Amino acid sequence: MLRQKQRAGTVAVIAHQKKSLGGGLDELRRLLADEEPGKLLWYEVPKSKKAPKQARKALKEGADLVLVWGGDGMVQRCVDALAGSGVTVGIIPAGTANLLAQNLGVPEDLPEAVRIAFHGESRKIDLGKVNGEHFAVMAGLGFDAEMIKDADRGLKDKLGRAAYVWTGLRHVRGELVRMEVKLDGVKWFEGEASCLLLGNVGTITGGIEAFDDARPDDGWLEIGVTTAKGPIQWARVLGRMSAGRSDESPFVRMTRARKVDVKLSEPMTYELDGGAKDSVTRLKAKVVPGGITVRVPVPDGPDRPDGRA
Ligand SMILES: [Mg+2]
Repeated sequence: MLRQKQRAGTVAVIAHQKKSLGGGLDELRRLLADEEPGKLLWYEVPKSKKAPKQARKALKEGADLVLVWGGDGMVQRCVDALAGSGVTVGIIPAGTANLLAQNLGVPEDLPEAVRIAFHGESRKIDLGKVNGEHFAVMAGLGFDAEMIKDADRGLKDKLGRAAYVWTGLRHVRGELVRMEVKLDGVKWFEGEASCLLLGNVGTITGGIEAFDDARPDDGWLEIGVTTAKGPIQWARVLGRMSAGRSDESPFVRMTRARKVDVKLSEPMTYELDGGAKDSVTRLKAKVVPGGITVRVPVPDGPDRPDGRA
């Protein structure tokens, strides 16, 4: 392999101590030494909630490249703190769910992920912002938030990705809540819905391709509302999602928008990138175009799986 001897400047690592990939953080240190960063800042956190503080510290210390070691929750916490800063983020997909990495073509392979972080292409991608907090993959209300809340109780680690789907299926009772959804200031949906999803990328929870044509750099958020209730209707939605185009389901309504305003008749827990957040009756979301710069495989390079991200 041809190695360019470009110095990487100040490199920060923000690592979730309980997440692992390849030979773990020991191997990461060895791989980083080979890249000869000008300065290396090293932060470890016991849970992703502690990551934003370290991310801000890294910025203050002048980091040029921030490597995030963890899954979607870790990445969400870090990009929320780093959005708009101009710093470049390299994702090291060491989590249970690594959907942003997966969508961007960064493999769950430590040396390869490090190589992309240092020598990949810098690409600006959109972020979504919900009630003041950024997300990179998706935000959800109803079905999805509930299933994540359950999966958080240790199940996620025990069963891995399948837990998302499994716990989801336990919530197929699909309680309906009255929702009013405005898109870019215009009423788009009013009625009973069981779930609302906002997507920045196509493949979301459980590896389900929920938004077929989503792109993380088009300045739009995908939005979907499901009106499915009961196990049979939900099974049809999930079946369509896993088999083909989700927008063909009679229980799903989908489009895209820049600004989303949701009012609920009763409080529901919402979710950002796999993490359960507050219970709310109002959800305000918008797209933040080019909100974060990430390293992705070089286009047409050997590691670009499908030519798109
Ligand atoms: Mg988009």
